Amino acid sequence: MSRPAPPVADTIVAPATPPGDGGIGIVRLSGPQSEALLATAFQGRKPTVAMSSHRLYHGRLCRSDGNAVDDVLAVIMRAPHSYTGEDVVEVHCHGGSQLLRSVLDLFLVAGARLARPGEFTQRAFVNGRLDLAQAEAVAALIGARSERAARVALAQLDGRLSRQLQLFAGELRELLLLHEAHIDFPDDDHGVLDRSAVAARAAAVQLAMSDLMVTFDAGRALREGVSVLILGRPNVGKSSLLNALLGEARAIVTAIPGTTRDTVEEQMVLGGFPVRLVDTAGVRDTADPVESEGVRRAREKALAADLILLVIDMSLPLAKEDRMAMALASPERTVLVRNKSDLPGVCDLTELAGFPRQVAVSARQGCGLAALEKAVVAHFSAGAGGDSAEGVVLSERRHREALGAALASVGGFLAAQAADEPLECLALELREALAALGQITGETTPDAILEQIFERFCIGK
Ligand code: GDP
Repeated sequence: MSRPAPPVADTIVAPATPPGDGGIGIVRLSGPQSEALLATAFQGRKPTVAMSSHRLYHGRLCRSDGNAVDDVLAVIMRAPHSYTGEDVVEVHCHGGSQLLRSVLDLFLVAGARLARPGEFTQRAFVNGRLDLAQAEAVAALIGARSERAARVALAQLDGRLSRQLQLFAGELRELLLLHEAHIDFPDDDHGVLDRSAVAARAAAVQLAMSDLMVTFDAGRALREGVSVLILGRPNVGKSSLLNALLGEARAIVTAIPGTTRDTVEEQMVLGGFPVRLVDTAGVRDTADPVESEGVRRAREKALAADLILLVIDMSLPLAKEDRMAMALASPERTVLVRNKSDLPGVCDLTELAGFPRQVAVSARQGCGLAALEKAVVAHFSAGAGGDSAEGVVLSERRHREALGAALASVGGFLAAQAADEPLECLALELREALAALGQITGETTPDAILEQIFERFCIGK
């Protein structure tokens, strides 16, 4: 299925570089008038030379009264060999905010229209240069907060997710054709539909789709970042752990219990995942109202966190407040950090046995941090199958919902088939599965949703 041909577009303009001062600023135009608009203002160093596509030309940008605005480099990228698939012009000027505004104004006065957020990428989508999943990857790549997140976004931009979805869709479409042939020409010589062979093929697609579905948690963690809470009673070494992980002393470390009264939050990258690391007030029974407010917040944060690092001081026996902290941490979302492992161990391990993931560290000496990082990564990578799956990872909630709908329809198909329902019903389930997959790549995405997706981009993208 493909979308209808786009109407002839007007010519849009926007700064492609972020606001603020910099060495170079780029103003980009796209649309049929791009080249003509450039010609109204650009005076090449060698005016007699006609501009070729995809070559940089040095010259001046001047207003209609002849006054120069800036010394620039200009490039024309003629359709269809451009980002948007239309004629595109880029003007590389000096990167002052006032200069960029002047260059922009020049083209607006000459007849270009200011681009809406994401409109360049929207045009690339409408003109078939990118499918929707790839267009979304552009925003993800720009917004990536870790190298690993950027790698996943780049793989999606390269079309790896789209190709995987096309494989699913191709197989489902073949099954649909098979059913339609038997519906349309029941008495023809198609033979009897081999139901068990069809079921096996549908089940194989279902399995592959489920495999992709389980990559979502890791994909979401990479895309959106995760919150990791450091929890434990006062003085077990929570601030020391935070500092050790950050590699610099940002939280105050003292030997007086309860110094970290409020929460301290730090952004960092842990094992490739963008992490918001939160150090709480220590969990303890106290009459101090400020302290107990901190404890209440720790409880709330424990519920909201993606992962809890529950810190226990192994050099002391477990205290009542340790048990309070343990009660706040659900084992499947917790890595138990056995801190102060540089000191003789006194703490009874049997009471900690309810936490399957444990790592011995010394926050003071910086030992065991690599193993801790590994445990954190293992938690967030569960289901993603390690690095090899990085190429095809589901990371958008919208994609998960659509794939979930497709999976439900394939499940419905298999159930209907097992119940010997009419071929029309089976075909309907397959059509619905295909429509759901098409929402990810944009073939069947309603226009209102498309608008929403592109609105999230910044101007100039
Ligand atoms: P918090 O109240 O849980 O944040 O604990 P702090 O990080 O403030 O640490 C409390 C005390 O324990 C400080 O004196 C730290 O230097 C000490 N401490 C923290 N981690 C370790 C460790 O791994 N080994 C040893 N020996 N002392 C530690």
